Order: sequence, then structure tokens, then C-alpha cells
Amino acid sequence: DTGAEALLEIRDLSVVFDGFRALDGVNLTLARGELRFLIGPNGAGKTTLIDVITGLTRPAGGSVRFGGKDLVGRKEHEIVRLGVGRTFQTSVVFEELTVVENLDLAASFRRPLWALAGRRRGVSEAVRAALATTGLEELAERPARVLSHGQRQWLEIGMLIAQRPSLLLLDEPVAGMSQDERARTGELLTEIAEDHTVIVVEHDMDFLRRYASQVTVLHEGRVLTEGSVDDVSADPRVQEVYLGR
Ligand code: ADP
Repeated sequence: DTGAEALLEIRDLSVVFDGFRALDGVNLTLARGELRFLIGPNGAGKTTLIDVITGLTRPAGGSVRFGGKDLVGRKEHEIVRLGVGRTFQTSVVFEELTVVENLDLAASFRRPLWALAGRRRGVSEAVRAALATTGLEELAERPARVLSHGQRQWLEIGMLIAQRPSLLLLDEPVAGMSQDERARTGELLTEIAEDHTVIVVEHDMDFLRRYASQVTVLHEGRVLTEGSVDDVSADPRVQEVYLGR
């Protein structure tokens, strides 16, 4: 443990659905600024873990400390306000709004109403930063509906960043992407991790080998192993879990 450096500290977490243990004594510590990949076969408990962190699912036991505060029992919007952002499989993009309007809307959820006056003078710093990071500047004034699948995924990530979270939880960000889009997303994640702490749920092993440093493997509701992507992918238990699927 890195003690004071830890942004997220999950201890002995368990989740029970109708007597079924979806998570069973999970421990996970993330240092500030870390980019952590979370992998594991279907049903391993990855989504459940993200759901607990973001207040969607209440655990049967254990604790989730974020920036020194316990998140268990807090409402979803309160957890967002504390600085935890996540993407969902379903799109949150408004098709008829432009890229910059989508970003601005996302950013405004963490701004008081009086700040609306300032918006008329131009794009806020948070929106400008999100545009630059996602590389969507040239599409800023285009409606979201003209974006490619990859561009849309980057816009969703941009909308998250515009809300200025310190912890980002991304669910399979490269799903359905072309090779070029995957590479661009890998660079984007690396860039985002420079000033955020990030957890990425991802299955694509090639992608992991290129962009992951630290990996946590979940299996049947437990942490099977944790470490560098090389160590983890060479681990016979990990290979067995994936081949035995
Ligand atoms: P993953 O995201 O790794 O595929 P999940 O976290 O979605 O895994 O699911 C873990 C286990 O918990 C699975 O066996 C799943 O069927 C079960 N599960 C998830 N959500 C619920 C729920 N709301 N009610 C009952 N069982 C659930």
C-alpha cells in the first residue's frame, strides 16, 4: 500500500445477489495518477465492481474509500460530485447538438447557474481542454450525429473529462473500433492518465499489451492476480481462466 498516495482503496468488498456472491472479498488500491486495466472472463464481477464504486450497487460488506471518504451508502450524483466519472455501454451523446455543445452541457452539470452568463463569452476552460485531449477540435461545430463510431466514443470520454473527475472508469472503450481508432484511443488513455486516475475494463489482449502497465484480473468475484501486463498474461492461472471460458 502507498498509504497517503492512494486515491481509491477498496477493502474486503462483497456483493450478494439473491444469495450469489458476485464479489467476494475484493481488495484493490489505486495510487493517484495510475492507469489500471481490469480484466476477467464474463461474469467475473467487473461491472459489479464499477457499479459499487459509482453507487449503483450497494455492497453486502467491505469499504470503498476515495480521496479519504467512504463511498458506500452515498448516492450516485454525490459520488459524481466527489469526482468519480464513468462511461456506460449506452450512449449519452445528444445527436442534434454539436460536439462542443455536448461537451459544454456535460461540463455545466458541475457548474452553478450563474456561470451560464460566462458561457456566452465562449467555451470554458474545461471544454477547451476536453476538445484538445480528444482531438475533436476540427469537429467542434459539427452535430454529433455525423461522428464515426470512434469519434463518438472519444466525445463520450471528452464529456466525462469536461466534468473534471479525478477518477475515470471506462467500460471497454475500444469495443467495435478499427485498428486506427484503437491506436488513437490508446494514446488518448495514456494522455488522460497524465492528470487523472483511470480504471479501464478491457478484454482485448493486444490492446492491453500495447497500452496497459498494471492489470488486475478478476475471476468469480475475486482478484485472481495483479501485476504488470507481461506477468499477468504469462500467469498459467490467467491463461486457464481465459482458455477455459
Ligand atoms: P462482468 O462484468 O465481469 O462480466 P458482472 O459484474 O456483470 O460480470 O456479473 C458478475 C456476476 O453477477 C454474474 O454471474 C452475473 O450474472 C451476476 N449479476 C450481475 N448483476 C446481477 C443482478 N442485478 N442480479 C443478479 N445477478 C447479477
